[in-house]
Amino acid sequence: MSENNRSIWVFGDYRNYFQNRVTLQLLSRAIELADKISASVCAVVMGHDVDEYVGEYIAHGAQKVYVIEHPQLKNYSIETYSYLMERLARIYKPEIIFVGATMFGREFAPRVAKKLGTGLTADCIGLDINEDGLLVQIAPSFGGNLLAEIITPESRPQMATVRPGTFQEIPHDYNAVGEVIRIPLPEDLPEDRVRLISTERWRKKGQRIEDARVVVCGGRGMGSKKKYKKLFELSQLLGGIIGATRPVVYAKWVDEESLVGQAGKHIRPKVLFSFGISGAIQHTAGIGDAGFIIAINKNINATMMKMADVAIVADANQFCTALTRELKKRIRS
Ligand SMILES: Cc1cc2nc3c(=O)[nH]c(=O)nc-3n(C[C@H](O)[C@H](O)[C@H](O)COP(=O)(O)OP(=O)(O)OC[C@H]3O[C@@H](n4cnc5c(N)ncnc54)[C@H](O)[C@@H]3O)c2cc1C
Repeated sequence: MSENNRSIWVFGDYRNYFQNRVTLQLLSRAIELADKISASVCAVVMGHDVDEYVGEYIAHGAQKVYVIEHPQLKNYSIETYSYLMERLARIYKPEIIFVGATMFGREFAPRVAKKLGTGLTADCIGLDINEDGLLVQIAPSFGGNLLAEIITPESRPQMATVRPGTFQEIPHDYNAVGEVIRIPLPEDLPEDRVRLISTERWRKKGQRIEDARVVVCGGRGMGSKKKYKKLFELSQLLGGIIGATRPVVYAKWVDEESLVGQAGKHIRPKVLFSFGISGAIQHTAGIGDAGFIIAINKNINATMMKMADVAIVADANQFCTALTRELKKRIRS
């Protein structure tokens, strides 16, 4: 039953599909990497009524999709899903497995790696293939002060979870064709230790920071919660959304949803305003794809000022007030 050809697998995390594009992003990177090691790109889909996702993954580059479809898989169970993934991997022996570093993936992937007795790099922000054909898993380490390049020289598969937003998905190809391999649900499923009583979908209101075209990010240099709050009005006037550094989130000036960086969101706005932010690597890890950066800082030597397209030496709070006033004036006239 095993495959002679090398393959790179992407686990189909389709929950919250319209917001969560990480599987498509991983397929796109898998295509580039597969080219370097002459491998095929496969997706794995488990669940109930999942055919639309199968089609979607093929349209986004999967040459083959392994599908386990059954009513019993309607609700996600970590024990069942990780058991099935282990089983598939033992049969088909993929060279590499990628899983999105979503809340789901962060729970699922380490269990699969443990069952398979292989390594896993969590929360990668880059992936490559080295001269020996090994997967290079690039991830922040030592408290985020270094970017480590990790390889798995012996165990297989090589496994990584990757942060959403790290790669760009390829456009949907309506003419794409892929092979679909349907696998029956085995009878010897593990006993679930968790019993699901009910589920409720949590709906977040408003736009997501990952999709925002304008982000107004504030750091400790804003001075206080009261002063930081002024950024909300500015971001509204600019049609944007608010972002923050970790000290600001820890000080409860804003909720964790707004955290940008290694421990938070990876954003890709067309325009990013950065108010009173030093530019620590853990923060800038999340803004690498910003189109145009305007930084406001009283210290011209701050890393953020050096990264910016426009660096304004000013008091962040005063500049925010002045810009808000000016925008309001222009909107009124
Ligand atoms: C494991 C780990 C993960 C982390 N993950 C993240 C993460 O995901 N996101 C994140 O942001 N951080 C993260 N951090 C924290 C990170 O290392 C920095 O401490 C943080 O980004 C600094 O935030 P800041 O720029 O707001 O504050 P500071 O570094 O204190 O910078 C404040 C800036 O404001 C300027 N300033 C001060 N007063 C004014 C004023 N009146 N007007 C204008 N400018 C002024 C200063 O010149 C300075 O540049 C992480 C740290 C660790 C160890």
